[in-house]
Amino acid sequence: MQFMRPGCGWIEVICGSMYSGKTEELIRRLRLARIARKEVLVFKPELDTRYSATGIVSHNEQSLSGVAVSRARMIPELAGGAEVVGVDEAQFFDGELVPVCEELARAGKRVVCAGLDKDWRGEPFGLMPRLMAVAEFVTKQHAICVVCGNPANFSQRKTLAREQVLLGATDVYEARCRQCFSVPDEEQLELFHPEKA
Ligand code: ADP
Ligand code: ZN
Repeated sequence: MQFMRPGCGWIEVICGSMYSGKTEELIRRLRLARIARKEVLVFKPELDTRYSATGIVSHNEQSLSGVAVSRARMIPELAGGAEVVGVDEAQFFDGELVPVCEELARAGKRVVCAGLDKDWRGEPFGLMPRLMAVAEFVTKQHAICVVCGNPANFSQRKTLAREQVLLGATDVYEARCRQCFSVPDEEQLELFHPEKA
């Protein structure tokens, strides 16, 4: 990112499946920015209270303190003078996150967002495709398939719940490659949720 002129902001997106190291990579980038004496602030959606009410925490227990917000629109004001703005679990934010990130970048800030690119069905997750399209830099991370050891690009849900947002992660999802991933079929879902069939 050396070629960026001073005062020019940009957007970075770190995406991939569950356990692909998105949060770890976000924390690494933000720590380096702090070493570079940049003012750093990290946000996460209020609904994600998996491990810590305020901080962001990776599956290997690295953490960074952060601010939980209920709507993306709250971020610009709270970001204040921060030069680097991090966003974890970006996929859970409302669509406003995209214009908000663009606004922050236009104001000269470096914006680093981490989020799931696909939901449990393997479909693009909410605002993520749009965020990736407007970002200057996109990094795709891979986990390890728990079945065969290949690089994993999918998050396999181990229950038959059909909601797109299902928190609590660890025992509900596992990383799988394309070959080992399967979407629970409609028949199974209907047996589980007859009211929604
Ligand atoms: P993400 O934010 O993408 O869900 P995290 O950064 O929270 O991922 O966690 C990544 C860490 O999870 C890895 O460094 C590793 O220690 C651990 N891990 C557990 N299961 C797996 C897996 N199947 N593949 C890769 N890493 C895994
Ligand atoms: Zn596999």
